[in-house]
Amino acid sequence: MDDEQLLRYSRHILLPEIGVEGQQALLDARVLIVGAGGLGSPAALYVAAAGVGTIAIADDDTVDLTNLQRQIMHTAEMVGAPKVESARLALGRLNPLTRVEGLQQRLEGAALEEQVSRADVVLDCCDNFATRHAVNRACVKYRKPLVSGAAIRFDGQVSVFDLRKPGSACYHCLFPEGEDLEEVRCAVMGVFAPIVGMIGTTQAAEALKLIIGCGTSLDGRLLLLDGLGMEWRSISLGKDPGCAVCAAA
Ligand SMILES: [Zn+2]
Repeated sequence: MDDEQLLRYSRHILLPEIGVEGQQALLDARVLIVGAGGLGSPAALYVAAAGVGTIAIADDDTVDLTNLQRQIMHTAEMVGAPKVESARLALGRLNPLTRVEGLQQRLEGAALEEQVSRADVVLDCCDNFATRHAVNRACVKYRKPLVSGAAIRFDGQVSVFDLRKPGSACYHCLFPEGEDLEEVRCAVMGVFAPIVGMIGTTQAAEALKLIIGCGTSLDGRLLLLDGLGMEWRSISLGKDPGCAVCAAA
């Protein structure tokens, strides 16, 4: 680290749980963020500010006026522009030392597998079950830690599936494919702006901790946020021995 980096990250380096070593781990890390919307915005901003070396961020969408109520990485002048381009500019302004790779696509198939295989941690910040399951399958295959978040109305949930560990549950253990609840979208149901911030920043915190190797992750726990009552609840979750995705992996 040079002097500028030592200064920029000094409040991290002061923390005994992080120190120079932990900060160096962040600088050397590559994070994949799937989705540059409500969850991806705060997640990407904090991951960039914290000094992660490379952020690959995928989204096939463009910035819409209705996004600006909660997708805080995007600004009014970026309406109509690709979200990944808006993300690249926003993250570059915040931390020019972080390398940002914008993937303007709905990440799937071989491209998804390639990105997951290259990442140290994967953040699922998407808004649909098909992508969630595809990201989970790739994380199981390449044994990558998956930080999964979701938010709708006043409710949120977040968990970690640390697939580097053989005993850990995967997303499919918790939400088997085909038994998906009816997909509810922000476009139809609405979402309270700060909820996506609370879940997205929690995802960023978990991703950074996984890279640094400090603390206890949400692996094995699902954290549920009731934003109306402002209560967090944690429930334990275990590996499904009959899981179609991870049991044989
Ligand atoms: Zn599973």
